[in-house]
Amino acid sequence: MIMPFEETDSLGEFDVIRRFFYRHQFTPSKLKSIPKHTQDVILGIGDDCALLSPPPTGEVFAITSDMLIEGRHFLKGTNPTLLGHKCLAVNLSDLAAMGAKPVAYNLSISLPEINPTWLEQFSNGLHAIADHYHCQLLGGDTTAGPLCISITAFGHVFPKQALSRHLAQVGDDIWLSGEVGDARLVLGCRCGEWQLDIPWQEKSSRMDAPTPRIELGLGLRGLAHAAIDVSDGLLGDLKHLLKASHVGAKVWADEVPCSDLLKNLSMELRRLCTLRGGDDYELCFTAPQNNRALINTLAEHLHLSLTRIGEIVAPSDSAPIIELWDQDRHRLPEDLTQHYLKSFDHFQ
Ligand code: ADP
Ligand code: MG
Repeated sequence: MIMPFEETDSLGEFDVIRRFFYRHQFTPSKLKSIPKHTQDVILGIGDDCALLSPPPTGEVFAITSDMLIEGRHFLKGTNPTLLGHKCLAVNLSDLAAMGAKPVAYNLSISLPEINPTWLEQFSNGLHAIADHYHCQLLGGDTTAGPLCISITAFGHVFPKQALSRHLAQVGDDIWLSGEVGDARLVLGCRCGEWQLDIPWQEKSSRMDAPTPRIELGLGLRGLAHAAIDVSDGLLGDLKHLLKASHVGAKVWADEVPCSDLLKNLSMELRRLCTLRGGDDYELCFTAPQNNRALINTLAEHLHLSLTRIGEIVAPSDSAPIIELWDQDRHRLPEDLTQHYLKSFDHFQ
């Protein structure tokens, strides 16, 4: 068998796992004395498989994977602490979009070299967000190769409350959490796509350290019908939800919430960042109109803005799946709508 890492390094593969990823280990006999949320993992890192408890009665596992590759999902030289945060955050965001409560995750990582300083910072960022959401590292794989991080996260959800993409109904409001567009703005400025004389660096954390909307996802159980997290661009992601639900949508393009920084830019750039941007990790969800008051109360409770940005309409063979309307309630031309609908696709 080929050794994944050359053992000429002072640290080898198993030292890396022990030093940076192995944290606590629980045997069944010790289970009673540890906090409830950590009892989900019966056997963690160190064996051929991890052992994970079944979900509480009536609930099921929600399982999701996301992979981050250097040069494709993040720039070379990205701060390792932020990267550790982000690679779990994007997975937790998928759990949030399903209304699931995080439980545990698996980490597979390939590293070009063993750099203890980098690994220390990366694992600190990773463990901090994992602890915040009580999500335990189960195990994984560590190998040599181009920098690539793949995580599979496990959560619990009652299947009837899962915010599946296919559950949107005609007449539902379309809502969006927080603000979108800043991550795209930062990316464009960093890469020199746009030379803007604005303090875009203030928004760096929107690209580097997204917040998974876990509490929102849990709060929407029973209130929302369908949800998706905005990772590849608002309209493109909404389109996935609409297709899965066999419905269409009207979206008020200029009511999509964004930062003051974006509001002061040209309408063209603002729309590009908010409607097509990507990397936002906000939740876009649909809910019956009757639930408006309850959703507004949830927003206050979470200190998170929730904005209605459109409505679900019946599908039509003659009309496009998404109609965009401007602030004067005029329809945007179809070619412009199609332009904003092109969300990120790795192969196009
Ligand atoms: P195997 O060869 O049996 O697949 P490995 O030697 O790859 O096991 O890994 C040893 C143990 O370390 C396993 O329990 C595995 O889950 C864990 N592990 C490996 N890499 C990581 C990682 N990056 N993070 C957490 N646990 C890891
Ligand atoms: Mg292995």
